[in-house]
Amino acid sequence: MSVDSKKPILVIGLGRFGQSVARSLDRMGHEVLGVDSNAECVQLMAETLTQCLEADATDKGVLERLGVGDFEAAVVGIGTDIEASVLTTLALADLGVPQIWAKAVNENHGRILERIGATSVVFPEARMGERVAHILSGKMIDYIEFDDDFAIAKMVAPKDAVGQTLGQSRIRSMTGITVVGVKRPTKDFEYAQEHTQVELGDLLIVSGTRENVEKFVAGESN
Ligand code: ATP
Repeated sequence: MSVDSKKPILVIGLGRFGQSVARSLDRMGHEVLGVDSNAECVQLMAETLTQCLEADATDKGVLERLGVGDFEAAVVGIGTDIEASVLTTLALADLGVPQIWAKAVNENHGRILERIGATSVVFPEARMGERVAHILSGKMIDYIEFDDDFAIAKMVAPKDAVGQTLGQSRIRSMTGITVVGVKRPTKDFEYAQEHTQVELGDLLIVSGTRENVEKFVAGESN
């Protein structure tokens, strides 16, 4: 679900998360209207964003006057104040904003946001925690997990695969893992093929179920 690059995007709640989303959208060329009830946050972002306003977003009348019904997408970056997050999301849904991305601080908060009209709920702290744990505890260099139990990891090529082609090491049939690509230092990224040779120090991008990826990276697959 992406937005037309010319359509302005509303970012409500300019804490660390909201600021980061707003700055990135601005860098990507979107017009961004930032809203926060805290004057300091508004001041901090005023120079970066197209427009930045101090307002209480839980007030539907205020949002209506800001013309939020004309926005194709809104991001609710309010987290800790769950009541404010819920009321803001509800007001945006009532005003017909088609895409509402809302940040949740826990699963129950996320369930409520979905029920009242958020089209996408994100759990930035939980996701980052998961990622750090995987990178810290294993040989992964990077790790992304998707909701449907699918994961992608970047890892140093395992010893067993070194000196062989991907076809010879039979990684997929032995482990259920698909190697997506191989990156050798100083060489371009190469999409994985049967004849792709794996050398010592190569980085592999691998994908599969979370369990298979974790086992493969830990060297427990065979
Ligand atoms: P982060 O971790 O992103 O810094 P947080 O999870 O601690 O944020 P909050 O402190 O609840 O989340 O809110 C983030 C921002 O949302 C703050 O800058 C706060 O001023 C703003 N905010 C809170 N309530 C409202 C509201 N009713 N209307 C507009 N902005 C609000």
